[in-house]
Amino acid sequence: MHFDIAIVGAGMAGASLAAELGTDMSILLLEAESQPGYHATGRSAAFWHETYGGPDVQPLSKASLAWLSNPPAELGVDSFLAPRGAITLCRSGERDRLDDFAASFAENGPNFEWLDRTGLDLHCPGLKPDWTLGLREPDCADIDVAGVHQAYLRLAARHKVALRCNAALLSAQRLGNGWRLATRNGDYSAGILVNAAGAWADEVATLAGVRPIGITLFRRTIVQLRFDRPIPRTLPLTIDVNGQFYFKSDGADGVWLSPHDETPSPPTDAAPEELDVAIAIDRLEHVVDWQVRQVTHKWAGLRSFAPDRLPVYGFDIDVPGFFWFAGQGGFGIQTAPAAAKIGASLLMGKSADPMVERVDAGRYAPGRFT
Ligand SMILES: Cc1cc2nc3c(=O)[nH]c(=O)nc-3n(C[C@H](O)[C@H](O)[C@H](O)COP(=O)(O)OP(=O)(O)OC[C@H]3O[C@@H](n4cnc5c(N)ncnc54)[C@H](O)[C@@H]3O)c2cc1C
Repeated sequence: MHFDIAIVGAGMAGASLAAELGTDMSILLLEAESQPGYHATGRSAAFWHETYGGPDVQPLSKASLAWLSNPPAELGVDSFLAPRGAITLCRSGERDRLDDFAASFAENGPNFEWLDRTGLDLHCPGLKPDWTLGLREPDCADIDVAGVHQAYLRLAARHKVALRCNAALLSAQRLGNGWRLATRNGDYSAGILVNAAGAWADEVATLAGVRPIGITLFRRTIVQLRFDRPIPRTLPLTIDVNGQFYFKSDGADGVWLSPHDETPSPPTDAAPEELDVAIAIDRLEHVVDWQVRQVTHKWAGLRSFAPDRLPVYGFDIDVPGFFWFAGQGGFGIQTAPAAAKIGASLLMGKSADPMVERVDAGRYAPGRFT
């Protein structure tokens, strides 16, 4: 069973790349779990927030917006986005921090709107008195993450990509111009091996005899809460300028809340810790006067970061035929369409797709770590 390209990992990264490549090449998509999307992709907070990840991630998020809001007609979906809006909040006395945050994006101006306390009250009722200033990003949106992931898998299937589940890569041996691959679901060979294994990216590199980049994993927790009152469904994504919490409406009467935790972890099936749930609720109680009545759901996932916290797209510079598509951090859903276009053009040796022609793809090349 020989393929032009074998992609390891069928989360958002691997699925989107497979869908972009599938028309031109024979593609094998290997997934260790019984179905794609079990790890980071299935555990996100499901938002598109232009400034999330910082100014060097913003070009990818921005370039992805058109695809997410107006997907290709063949998918038969009007949009994967629904309006949400976001507010980055600060306390009185922290104005400098919010100014610095806004200034860091000055070059590529997102749509910002300053809110005083009266403006904050309109969007987020019940704020405690010391929260006095906010920077609103009206363009922030909820993403239908499962919809996007399934759409990419559907496109991949249409393009005859061979998806194999329960097919963890066990070994990868460089032979001639390609790779011999042993998986739990049989043996294959491929010309190019793509590492889209999320939290396992460094492990997959090691399996293939490639020097790991130093991808670190951080657990992030989300709790779904109900309160003594219904929370407006229009509640924006509300983020602390100091990175201590974010919360947004859960689409019903409650919220999704994260303590913005970054607990180092080995690659694993992450689960929420009671302490992080307690910290999340404690932090929220310093922000709003809503009384927590019930934790209705909680989950955790791993976010994977390269040493500079930017994604890694491109061929390894030491081992031929090994391609990195890793380090998607906390932004791998909202950047997926642009990332997949970049990855596909690099793999096919083609010029950049118009969607990403303004993105400096070299910024994300693995060679920056040598
Ligand atoms: C709590 C949380 C909230 C988040 N919120 C957002 C958000 O609001 N917006 C946003 O854009 N991003 C968000 N993210 C980040 C986003 O979820 C990730 O960046 C994205 O899902 C990464 O996709 P991936 O395909 O790289 O990883 P994954 O989805 O983890 O997929 C990697 C796959 O590789 C497979 N694999 C691993 N090893 C092997 C092997 N040896 N053989 C075969 N398969 C293998 C795994 O089983 C897995 O399915 C969030 C993440 C978390 C944890």
